[in-house]
This record gives sequence, structure tokens and C-alpha cells, in this order.
Amino acid sequence: MISIKQKNRKRISLFEYVAFSMQNCCGWTIVYMLLQIISAIFPTLIISVSAAFINAFIENYSKSGNTVQLVRSGGLFLFFVLISYLLPTCISFVGIRLNVNLGTAYDFLLANKRSRIKYALIENSETYELVERVCADSSGRMYKGIRNIFNAAEYIIRFAGITVTLLVYDAAVGLLAGGLLVLIVPICVKGGKEDYKAYEKASEQFRKARYLRTILSGRDSAAERTLFGSANWMNQKWETWHNEGRILAAVATKKNFIRIKIGSMISVLVSGGIMLIMLPDVLNGKISVGLYISIVTAVIGLVQLMTWNIASVVEELVVSRQYIKDYASFMSLEEETQFSEKREKINVSRVEFRDVSFSYPNCDKKVLNHVNFILETGKTYALVGENGSGKSTIVKLMLGLFKDYEGEILINGVELKQFSAWQLQSIYACSFQDFARYELSVRDNIAIGRGIQMDQVSDAAVSEAIDKVGLTNYISAMPKGIETKIGRIEDEGTDLSGGQWQRIAIARALVKDAAVYIMDEPTAALDPMSEKDIYNLIYEAMCGKIGVLITHRLGGAARTDEIIVLKQGKICERGTFKNLMRANGVFAHLYNMQRSWYQ
Ligand code: ADP
Repeated sequence: MISIKQKNRKRISLFEYVAFSMQNCCGWTIVYMLLQIISAIFPTLIISVSAAFINAFIENYSKSGNTVQLVRSGGLFLFFVLISYLLPTCISFVGIRLNVNLGTAYDFLLANKRSRIKYALIENSETYELVERVCADSSGRMYKGIRNIFNAAEYIIRFAGITVTLLVYDAAVGLLAGGLLVLIVPICVKGGKEDYKAYEKASEQFRKARYLRTILSGRDSAAERTLFGSANWMNQKWETWHNEGRILAAVATKKNFIRIKIGSMISVLVSGGIMLIMLPDVLNGKISVGLYISIVTAVIGLVQLMTWNIASVVEELVVSRQYIKDYASFMSLEEETQFSEKREKINVSRVEFRDVSFSYPNCDKKVLNHVNFILETGKTYALVGENGSGKSTIVKLMLGLFKDYEGEILINGVELKQFSAWQLQSIYACSFQDFARYELSVRDNIAIGRGIQMDQVSDAAVSEAIDKVGLTNYISAMPKGIETKIGRIEDEGTDLSGGQWQRIAIARALVKDAAVYIMDEPTAALDPMSEKDIYNLIYEAMCGKIGVLITHRLGGAARTDEIIVLKQGKICERGTFKNLMRANGVFAHLYNMQRSWYQ
């Protein structure tokens, strides 16, 4: 079983943000870093520049009327003030560029990774939550991380600068200022961790509420919503979940506010103390008036900034750290083997399940129990059994979507796990019961059946598949033929009926020349007349191949060479239609029951 924590042994630090930023947007990152560092050093430099200006006014100008020193120090002071006003604007401008560039690169990376995650992990709730946490509002995450790191660095540099300036003049005062940081930071870190936990709980509620909103506004559920009048119930449920999330977030904000207030009171007391302690040194001339005024101004500025900002910066930093840990876990999630490996095609003549048992990840229940069967070329097989008996699970294992099974699955006598994803993909053509409805062109909807070779599918092959499923007349009458977009995502989109969509899904399987055809409930959405035609074409397509048919319509299974009957994950009967009917067991009972509905 794949555990998220196990995979995340490497120590993850905030510098992952900087590394990502440097890799994807090197130039803007360097400019941003330089501007932030200059902006952090500036307040300390301004202390001496403004002190020199004030002293020049008091010492040179008021006492002796000397303007040279005043103009020189005043000019320098003005220059520094101007730069310190311009710097935030420059940082914002560079930040916007960095945000856009990083957002694009990051979204691309996440989408790419998400599409490659191992199928078994997608069905795992722990992984699902992780993926949701990492991918929700992902665009600004990387920039936010960088911004938080440099904001924190800026405060530390500013604080250190003022503390060092104070230490130079008075060790006690410098230590007092340093103590302030030591006091505030742990409170903020603790708060940040609590905030993240609250955010995790709140986001779980918001995720559930978001899902309901999709159902409430989605087209797929519109008919049932109207028919069952379920919108009120869903609205109430949405409100409950949304409010629960909101309350969790509000409690965290309230605690955060109280912490900030306590932090600000401590800061005001400490800065007041600093001013008082320094006053005697000013009076006895140890510190110049200019320096005193400049230090006091800088301390007040820093305290104001810190009381409102440092708490949130440290807390956001903690949130960013938790997020980057999640990101690292997400990035280390196991992926499906890439198609670049082992590309030679195999002529499959036999697929065998030898004593296969299986439980889904994180579930103890055995869904398949010592299953044995052999499928051979030139024959067709039906998998039948009541809901939940394990038919779809057998297909998932056959396709290599889950590999944690007991026993052996052999393709031409070789264990399935030895085959590359590309090889497995090339062996099978499938039409799934819950087939996808791609809101793309008819052509793409069908060509996608050839997987990574979909670009090589000719128009003639697409038209042939359309012809087989009996949609030629319908699609020829569409505005752009096979290039017409289906579904309603585009303005020109044309929607299809359930049965037509099912035919498209079958055409998607038929466009591929595979060794094994798997048809899972291929006629579920079709009327009885169409059903007969579709069965004819499916049997035709499966001729000379290995054909697997999963169906509840037991009449459709009559023509297969062997029917495998499943019950609670075990094979309870197998044989030809005739033999099973003669045996008068489970299959015959189910078949006779179905037949009686039509009499
Ligand atoms: P069938 O196709 O015969 O209706 P399935 O193979 O879909 O049956 O399901 C067999 C059993 O496995 C059922 O009990 C079902 O609840 C369980 N099951 C199916 N998918 C999962 C999953 N992703 N996680 C846990 N249990 C599952």
C-alpha cells in the first residue's frame, strides 16, 4: 500500500519556494530578491542619514548658520526618502510579474503531475484530500511563499539593523529590542500552526460544500434536481457545510486577532521602555539628539509594522511551510509507468487469472477471492453476476490499474506486472460502463481510444468506427461533420442523447486494433432494437480476438463461448449458455427471471 508519509522522508524547507522560483523564473526572482534586500536595509541606513540631517540643523545651521552641511545631509536624506517611497512600487511591479509567471508554471506542473498519478491512488481518500489541498487555488501559492519568505527576511533585517544600531550605543537597550523578537516569534509560530489545522478542517467543509454547489448548478443533475425537487435539501446541506467551514475559519481569525493585540501591547511597552532608557544618554550627550529622534522614529515605525504585520507574516510563513510539505508529498505520489518504456507490441493469445484475490487499498474486505480463469484468442467470454460481485474489479486488475493483488495475472504466461504501461495500453480496447463524455469534437472523442497515438488516427478510421455504431447519418448532418464539437461547452456544441453517447464510447473502443476487447455494459443506454444491432457489431469486432463482455442483459451473453458467473468475489459457475441453462443453477435462475419480465 502506498503511504503518503512514507514517501516524504526528505526534510522539506521553505527554500523549496525559492528553488522553484529560481528554476522557473530566474531573472524576476533575482530582481525581486535584490529589491527586497535593499528595502530591508534602507530603514537602518535612514537612521544615520536622518540623524546627520537633524544634527546638521541643530549643530551647524541653528548655532553657526552653516548651510553647506545642512544642504548636503538634507539632499542625501531626501534621496533616501524618495528611494524608500519608490521601492515598494518597484517591488509590487516585479511581484506582479513573478506572480503571473510562477502561477502559470506551477499550474502546468500540478496539472501534469495530477494526470500521471497512479490510478490506485486516485481512488484513495487520503490521497484525494491531499491532491485537493495542494491543487485548490494553486496559482498564487508559489508567489505567496516567496513573498512571505522575503517579507519575513525584510523584518528580520530591519529588526537586526535597528537592534545592532541600538547595541552600538547601549547594550541594554539593544538586548531589550532583541528580546521583543524572541517573545513575539514563538507566539506567532504557534498561532500559524493552529491556523493551518483550522484551515485544513475548514477546507474539508468548503470542499464538501463546493461539491454540492456543482450538483446544484450542474447540467448532469438538472433533470433529477427538478424532478425530485431536491434543490431545497441540497441548499440547506450546502448552507450547513459552508457555515461549519466559515465558523472554523472565523474562530481561527478571532484567536489570531487576540494574539496580534497581545503582541502589539508587548511591543508598545518595550518601545516605550527603549525611549525612556535612552533619554538620560541624550541629556548627558552620549547620544546625539538627531540619532535619538531617528532611532525613536525607526523603532515606532518598526513596532507599528510588527504589531500588525509580523504576526501575520510569521503565521503565513507557517502556513506556507505546511503547504510546501503537502506539495512535496503530492509530488512524490507514485505515477503510472511512463509510455516511453518498452514499446514493442505483443500478440496476446492468452490471459489467465491464477488464484487471484484482491482488496482495495485501505479496505480489509476481499473483493475477489481465489479467482481462476483463462481467456484465449478467438473466443468470447461473458462476466455476469449481481451488482458488487466483482466484475468491474476483474477488469481493473486485467488493465493493470491495481497491482497489489495476490496470485498471478498472466499475459501469454508472463506476469502482468512485467509489462510496461504502454504495452498494457496497446493490448486492450475498452468501452466502460461509466464512459467519459468528452466535450470535444466527434473526431477527438473517438480517436482518443487510441491513447497516445490518437494524432495518427485517420479520418477514414474515425468514419469507419462511426459507421459501425450506426451514427453515420446523424453525424453527417451535423454542421461540421466529425469536426463538430459535442456537449455544450462551446457555443457551436451539439448535445447527444444517452444512447448516442454510448455509441460514441463503443466507437472509441472499435477504432483501436487491440488483442483484447472489453465491453462493460455496452448497451445500458440503448433501446432493445439498437441493442441487437450493437451486440451484432460487438461480436463481429471481437471475432478472432479475446472478447470480454460484462452485462446484466443475460440474453446478450448467450452467444459467448463461456459465461463466468460471479458471486461475492468468487466464481460460482462457468460454462456455455446451453450448459449453464441445463445445469439450472444461478445463471439459469437469473436468466429465467429476466425472460419472464418480457413475457
Ligand atoms: P460489479 O462490477 O460486479 O458491480 P465491482 O467490481 O464494482 O462490482 O465491486 C466489487 C466490490 O468492490 C463492491 O463491494 C464494491 O463496493 C467494492 N469496490 C469497488 N470499487 C471500490 C473502491 N474504489 N474502493 C473500495 N471498494 C470498492
